Amino acid sequence: MIELFNIDLLSYTVQTAETAPTHSYTIYWLILLGSMLLSWLVSARMKSRFSEYSQISIPVTGRQVAEQMLKDNHITDVKVISTPGHLTDHYNPADKTVNLSESVYNSNSIAAAAVAAHEVGHAVQHAQAYHWLGLRSALVPIVQLSSNLVGIVLMIGIVLLAMGGSPWVLGLGIGLFAVTTAFAFITLPVEFDASARALKWLDRSHLMNYFDHGKAKSALFWAAMTYVVGALSSLAMLLYYVFIFLNARGRE
Ligand SMILES: [Zn+2]
Repeated sequence: MIELFNIDLLSYTVQTAETAPTHSYTIYWLILLGSMLLSWLVSARMKSRFSEYSQISIPVTGRQVAEQMLKDNHITDVKVISTPGHLTDHYNPADKTVNLSESVYNSNSIAAAAVAAHEVGHAVQHAQAYHWLGLRSALVPIVQLSSNLVGIVLMIGIVLLAMGGSPWVLGLGIGLFAVTTAFAFITLPVEFDASARALKWLDRSHLMNYFDHGKAKSALFWAAMTYVVGALSSLAMLLYYVFIFLNARGRE
């Protein structure tokens, strides 16, 4: 969601930034284009890995993997349910449910097992009060407020600037954007840890008779990498706005 949002803002900034009488933006465009290219490469790589691993069957479904991993971790108050859509898999700490997308819930493939085990990894984090998950959950209300406001504040800030006004509304927008960027980085240890827990469990389970450590690790690694790219893209956008702000202040 954050990524799409960035692109909308980006196309908007292209028009306004070009009219601003400032010095070269080349390096910043290179950073932005580089981060967009990297996002595209990582998500293409992840999709190709997952489509390959969707073809390799194992004797249990995503739902059974999730239920077994919960049981092995002595977690009895978390439910595994099916949720509509594609790539909608998530753990909901509010009602203690592992939500698996329909294809993962019913599918008996390596890809489904990796996704299911990763989501249960979040349930295990919750049960063990893993501190990065606690911090992330505590920040959710602030981040929601920031992401609701950031688009409009940045837009007003840039329009004001283009009309020769004060850069401080843009400064406020940058502050809000920084909150969402920080959140994207706090998400990283949470995601890598969930994948590490999933891999550890998979390695010890009977499922390893059907596929090797390398395949499980690769599926989980590429899924986590999309979060790294998301965080880096967010940082690239943040730096870009900071650059516009500093340039405007220099002209004051
Ligand atoms: Zn996750």
